[in-house]
Amino acid sequence: MKITDIKTCSARFGYVRVYTDEGLYGTGELSHQGAGWRLIVDSMKGLLLGEDPRDVDMCFEKVRRAFIFRGGMSGHTISALSGIEIALWDLAGKAAGVPVYRLLGGKFRDRVRLYVDCARGNYAETTQRVREAGFTAMKFDLDDANRPEKMDRWNWTVHPAELEVIVAEAHEIREAVGPHMDLGIDLHGRYDVVAGQKIAIAVEALDLMWLEEPVPPENIDALAQVKAASGTPICVGENLYLRYGFRELLEKQAADIIMPDISKCGGLSECRKIANMAEIYYVPFAPHNNSGPLSTLADAHTCASVPNFLALEYHRFRDEGMENILMKDEPLIEQGHVVLNQKPGLGAELDEDYVRTMMPAEDDGELWR
Ligand SMILES: [Mg+2]
Repeated sequence: MKITDIKTCSARFGYVRVYTDEGLYGTGELSHQGAGWRLIVDSMKGLLLGEDPRDVDMCFEKVRRAFIFRGGMSGHTISALSGIEIALWDLAGKAAGVPVYRLLGGKFRDRVRLYVDCARGNYAETTQRVREAGFTAMKFDLDDANRPEKMDRWNWTVHPAELEVIVAEAHEIREAVGPHMDLGIDLHGRYDVVAGQKIAIAVEALDLMWLEEPVPPENIDALAQVKAASGTPICVGENLYLRYGFRELLEKQAADIIMPDISKCGGLSECRKIANMAEIYYVPFAPHNNSGPLSTLADAHTCASVPNFLALEYHRFRDEGMENILMKDEPLIEQGHVVLNQKPGLGAELDEDYVRTMMPAEDDGELWR
């Protein structure tokens, strides 16, 4: 089997499709694709034409090494390559007639737990809807660069009045969700070390699932200081790429939980390896996911294939019509979990008629090009 073409589709989310000489194709979704991603995928295509798509890791590494002078370590290059990688896995599963998780070493679980990213809003009302839908974990944002208590939006120090408001809101959230809901709080890296320490200490009694990115992602030593200051679990990793991006973080034991973005930082195989690296430090794997249904389904295969999986993010709880993107006999999400089916590949195809309705109005071209 040989790769004959690679095309992309931009319709709110970014999709990659890999075609073969045997008529089979595979589809992937990449996240945080940014401008120019389709050109990046096009520029990778020549390296993969003629290759056997079932040699997924080799195809990935061939492109990555060829692009090392152009971002083969992180950023848009790796995100574009992640979309290709996921499409290759879909193909490899279809070619073998098995679900992708079978090719990733098999599954530890049939149901992959999701947590709902709730951002901000009415805590009680949101919690009620999330709980009624069967979810057992959720996350809220507590950073706000425009809080009136802040000195200005650039300074990362937490002032006493801001700390007071954040801690009060954290308590309000815990009260709204109740003691048995797994609860994350995201700070989006908007604090300095001492501020991160103060917040982590102040919310210690709330038994959080995690406090996310108390400081920006670039300095692992600074993060380690925040982690050491309290018993609040610290989760980071949505802006790190590849195994290499997680090496120092894990070696320095600077995080309690890691959250690679699977369809941005390297794809299914790379993130399985990252989860395996974390496992030897007894660190859980809780992937970041701001993507659409296809990516969520793809991520679930990796999440099923590692023992230390904790929860996969889901951002689309409040987005109407999301389920229509996939053609599936069963719902994508049942009682707060992605339930993996037995179909070959990722387990669902895009509903192209529906996806077409999500294309930008100014784009009247072909769905795939
Ligand atoms: Mg985050």
